[in-house]
Amino acid sequence: MLYFLRFSKSLIKVIFAIILFVGAYISLPESSFAYPNLAPYDVIIDVGHGGVDGGTSADGILEKDLNLTFGKELYSELKKKSYRVGITRIHDYALSDDSPYHNISRHNQDLKQRKMIADALKPKVFLSLHMNWSKSSERRGPVVIYQASGRSFHLAQIVQQHLNDYFDLHKTPIRGKHYFLMQKLEMPSLIMELGYVSNNEDLQLLTDEKSQRQIVAAIVRAIDEYLFIYPSDLP
Ligand SMILES: [Zn+2]
Repeated sequence: MLYFLRFSKSLIKVIFAIILFVGAYISLPESSFAYPNLAPYDVIIDVGHGGVDGGTSADGILEKDLNLTFGKELYSELKKKSYRVGITRIHDYALSDDSPYHNISRHNQDLKQRKMIADALKPKVFLSLHMNWSKSSERRGPVVIYQASGRSFHLAQIVQQHLNDYFDLHKTPIRGKHYFLMQKLEMPSLIMELGYVSNNEDLQLLTDEKSQRQIVAAIVRAIDEYLFIYPSDLP
């Protein structure tokens, strides 16, 4: 319990929200509620946008909803493999609603909440799920964005390769110099733009249930591979 004393009230609220949401989703045994175990997580899935923030969109399909679909599927597939997994939201909800910071923009409140969750749960890997958009409807394929760290870059290469295999493309990961989460998170982290909603072929893959499962399976294979190489979060 000492662990909690270092947290602000709002962070405790966020953590219990995660535990309760996740508990509701996977029906944790009662003891998990009484003594939430904050031992290191393997993976935190960060479901981009939510609530008032729909993210990008195309044909009436909102990024926040696709992110949630992929996030829940990825969560459940990683749990099946007995990884310790957390997820930042499992409903259509704006994380900024819980922010204790009221003098910054809603967008920054949202990002700081995501960082607080990562800092509290200390995962080996933090994966932020997003969808891309371009004014060029030709542009397509998954884009994996990494931090200025060797582990993040290696993780990005592995994830990009598995996604490339599925999409039958040869894209390379991109360094996320200007992204708040890529700058501020201390654990190996990625932003995964799974495809372009502005491209018809990608949109078909991103919205079809069978291909959604296959994209998630590709990400799970990548996580398996990365955590096999780096089973510990120690350097
Ligand atoms: Zn996004």
